[in-house]
Amino acid sequence: MGKALIIGCGGVASVTIHKCCQNSDVFEEICIASRTKSKCDALKEKLSGGKTKITTAQVDADDVNQLINLINEFKPDVVINLALPYQDLTIMDACLATKVHYVDTANYEPLDTAKFEYKWQWAYRERFEKAGITALLGSGFDPGVTGVFSAYAMKHHFDEINYIDILDCNAGDHGYPFATNFNPEINIREVSANGSYWEDGKWVETKPMEIKRVYNFPEIGEKDMYLLHHEELESLGLNIKGIKRIRFFMTFGQSYLTHLKCLENVGMTSIEPIEFEGHKIVPLQFLKAVLPDPASLGPRTVGKTNIGCIFQGKKDGKDKTYYLYNVCDHQECYKEVGSQAISYTTGVPAMIGAMLIMNGTWKKPGVYNIEEFDPDPFMDALNKWGLPWKESFNPDLVE
Ligand code: NDP
Repeated sequence: MGKALIIGCGGVASVTIHKCCQNSDVFEEICIASRTKSKCDALKEKLSGGKTKITTAQVDADDVNQLINLINEFKPDVVINLALPYQDLTIMDACLATKVHYVDTANYEPLDTAKFEYKWQWAYRERFEKAGITALLGSGFDPGVTGVFSAYAMKHHFDEINYIDILDCNAGDHGYPFATNFNPEINIREVSANGSYWEDGKWVETKPMEIKRVYNFPEIGEKDMYLLHHEELESLGLNIKGIKRIRFFMTFGQSYLTHLKCLENVGMTSIEPIEFEGHKIVPLQFLKAVLPDPASLGPRTVGKTNIGCIFQGKKDGKDKTYYLYNVCDHQECYKEVGSQAISYTTGVPAMIGAMLIMNGTWKKPGVYNIEEFDPDPFMDALNKWGLPWKESFNPDLVE
């Protein structure tokens, strides 16, 4: 059917690339382009021999001109941005200049401020519309599948949804005292920021890790969850009819929290540059360099993830509760694509989002969050491509 340019070659990209190669009827040709070309070449080597034709390229995705040249050379139907949130706008600029569709999994975050918001990317709406191209924002798991779940619940189960709790539970164990499951810099920026949730049309701010609850998850058991700010709260708060409150909770083990507190207390999580032996260094970037690479956690991580949403609202005048979730096994993912479940649960939806744009199902000029599209084809594809979902009308989750 067509060609995809994949930018970035880290943990998430590796899964998306494996999945594109499994789906060679749609992804006839892919180009893997990243800052470090040797990683792209290694993956190409591993996957060559399949039906999808693979090429590789070196690109600095902070440089719009380099991106434009690469797109003009490869002529993809879609660009899948799996680099870091800092590159979202340069890649969107390059897509605009070349009139190519755009997909990502995380919203833009300026390098010097730990503040992720959609306003920068939503500002591209008119320009994408005029150019006749689609930007699909947040096609990972959260954001991503959580938005598709919300749209599906709204379409099939509710007249209005009043409350959504997004529960991201990772019961995996990688055996290290401290490591992050995806890019350490992005992960630590996210969890050391103040928490917040959306209630009655405005944000309520909390201190980091201030709100804790214990949930008893299907197939996993009891886990401590902490309220965090998360990017999909911003778009779901606007796009889901009747919403009164939406919150996001994530699991953190005691060892992770103790290490994080200690690193914070000594200044290692700061993003303010400091002078060190004649160089300017950012402590958090230095910390990233000494922590285990998330891509290396695959073989050592055992256990499962359970990510989903609890919806409460009204159907035909009656109160209704509905729980939609996916359970993913770290070792199963590793056997299939050589990655742990956090990369897997993000990389598979990125492939699905790109597929739905390429095959025309979700082609719509403009910039959209994932819940703005018809969820049904995505829900079918989740079952087909490795992230089957389960539902419950009687969840008994909270302790
Ligand atoms: P990694 O750090 O493993 O990979 C990032 C990749 O981007 C690396 O290959 C890196 O290159 C490349 N890169 C970074 N800067 C540039 C640049 N300027 N030009 C070209 N390439 C660059 O991160 P992950 O795979 O863990 O995460 C990828 C994205 O997925 C992130 O945006 C993250 O926030 C998002 N994510 C989304 C989730 C969701 O559910 N929605 C969940 C988890 C992650 P190099 O190899 O040289 O470092």
